[in-house]
Amino acid sequence: MIEAPLVDAHCHIITDPYNKIPTNNDFINDNITRGIMSNNCYDWERLQKYLIQANINITKTKQFAGFGIHPWYSHLFTFKPIDSSDTHFKFNHYKEVITFKDSDLPLLKNLIDSIFPDPIYIEDYINNIDFSKIDIIGEIGLDKSFTIPSNGFYQTSRDDNVTRTRLRVSMNHQLKIFERMLQLATTHNINVSLHDVNCHLKLFDLSKSILLDNSNVNICLHSYTGSIEFLLTQWIKTFTSNRLYLSVSEYINFKNGSSNLNFKQIPSRCILTETDYVIDYPENKNELMNQSLNNTLTHLTNQLGLNSINDTTQLIYNNFNNFMHINQ
Ligand SMILES: [Zn+2]
Repeated sequence: MIEAPLVDAHCHIITDPYNKIPTNNDFINDNITRGIMSNNCYDWERLQKYLIQANINITKTKQFAGFGIHPWYSHLFTFKPIDSSDTHFKFNHYKEVITFKDSDLPLLKNLIDSIFPDPIYIEDYINNIDFSKIDIIGEIGLDKSFTIPSNGFYQTSRDDNVTRTRLRVSMNHQLKIFERMLQLATTHNINVSLHDVNCHLKLFDLSKSILLDNSNVNICLHSYTGSIEFLLTQWIKTFTSNRLYLSVSEYINFKNGSSNLNFKQIPSRCILTETDYVIDYPENKNELMNQSLNNTLTHLTNQLGLNSINDTTQLIYNNFNNFMHINQ
């Protein structure tokens, strides 16, 4: 029997507005089947370039493309068509979607004047997408803890001297973006990969109201941090173990070697592995990726009481194919 490849159900590509082309082929790793997320307009462009290269160089494994607007980039998008005759359009947009204290108004004004890009009309962004080429709607979700960095938004390789501000994207705006992304998933029958920080109930309720009736859409909860009870009694009970998946990372789920969940209680068919790493970041060499996935597999092998890491690798690969509706 051919050995199953490793699965990275949720990873990323660099967000760099100044360089949207991967600079080398270091990312070529034919051992890992990947679901590669996009979070914003910059990494989405880069992902297109990556996939062209990957299609030529990667033959044994599959690379799945994610299209999403991550909550950390949700302020860059507007629901109003751009009115270039309105000189206050940009200012009004950011002032509306960002929550701030009065004392932070000068900081916000400065960011709007000199740091934030012009907002993007979300429907224009969506209209340019060929959804037949999208495999996953992700990364999308809600984040209650996120604060906007001083350079406007997270950029993978340009975070020197960046500080966290006290500015936040309003939950109302995050919810609108998340809702629009879920609608895309159900309209086009595409699976989702979800980010949730301290919004467990809101994320579940909205996902349920939009996705439950469409059994073509499977759900992956990435680096899940909610409780085991909520997972079992809400997510799995509602969507069943046929549709609900959990992608498990070394960094979040096995922090310091101990797990945040009792995996024995979770149906093993629901479990996937992920790194959540940026695959083309210079320091994230192939060895590091393989190592992280192998560490997660080792933890899972122990927790699930499986015979060997090969068994776990095979299980995760089968699960991922089920998640992606791929008949084996
Ligand atoms: Zn992620």
